[in-house]
Amino acid sequence: MSARPYIGRFAPSPTGPLHAGSLVAALASWLDARAHGGLWLVRIEDVDTPRCVPGADRFILQQLATCGLVPDAPPVWQSQRGPLYQQALDQLVHQGLAYGCACTRSDIAQANAALGRVKPRHGDLVYPGTCRPDQGGLRGRAPRAWRLAVPTGEAGRIRWQDRRLGEQWQQLDEAVGDFVVRRADGLWAYQLAVVVDDAAQGVTHVVRGEDLADNTPRQRYLQDCLGVPAPVYLHTPLVMGANGEKLSKQNGAEALDLGDPLQALQRAGETLAIAATAHTVGAWLTQALAAWRKGAPLSSGITKFPEQG
Ligand code: GLU
Repeated sequence: MSARPYIGRFAPSPTGPLHAGSLVAALASWLDARAHGGLWLVRIEDVDTPRCVPGADRFILQQLATCGLVPDAPPVWQSQRGPLYQQALDQLVHQGLAYGCACTRSDIAQANAALGRVKPRHGDLVYPGTCRPDQGGLRGRAPRAWRLAVPTGEAGRIRWQDRRLGEQWQQLDEAVGDFVVRRADGLWAYQLAVVVDDAAQGVTHVVRGEDLADNTPRQRYLQDCLGVPAPVYLHTPLVMGANGEKLSKQNGAEALDLGDPLQALQRAGETLAIAATAHTVGAWLTQALAAWRKGAPLSSGITKFPEQG
């Protein structure tokens, strides 16, 4: 476990305003940072520029502030941090861990079809390794994307501990395969940017929605490759939409009503099993923090807090 001073973060993608689901992650990460007497940062994850909505970043910061969630340092924008990601990619290439890949989507689909593999309904095809240096490499073709080679066998079985979900593992080579760290369109992949930034910002604790839990093994593996410390993880329960799927902008999640932040917090609190009844945002957050400190909300994972003076 980490002896470094607690630094937590909320890392929204500015693809639209905050909704009930994203507020749960924001609130939980804020409460956890406060309960540990730590710092809470906000990082705008705007690397996937085609999906970003102009002005959504500022609006999210305003929504957070209206809910009483104000970061302890000025927010950072991933779009301004390209040199850091390039440095990490250079390191991985230098270590012989990342390689250039010339495959198009249809090349990958064809190679998989030849192996009798079909695309799963949710998720991507595992990269068949066509451009891996040990399988012949680029063979004179120009690289489009950059991939991280993942090991097989026991080394590819990535284990990690989640404070709420308990012990987790994924056989990375079978579930994901060599994954993209720089995309064919030149954009930085989420996996690389998030790992580089968590490390650069000294993040010790990641608190985020459970929909991201299956990204954690890729991030744990990247941390090991880059030689940076692994944060402690807590994945929070998801808010479900009317169709029984995770609430998201795609299935009609409404933007939080800035006119009624208390109601938004109460709903987020319900998902975290926090019963706070106060009638102002400030008093509600104080009650919620007391509940979080007691370890009430997410059962066994959140029990040990240093007493705050
Ligand atoms: N930017 C990601 C998202 O909004 C979250 C990343 C993270 O918390 O690790 O889904």
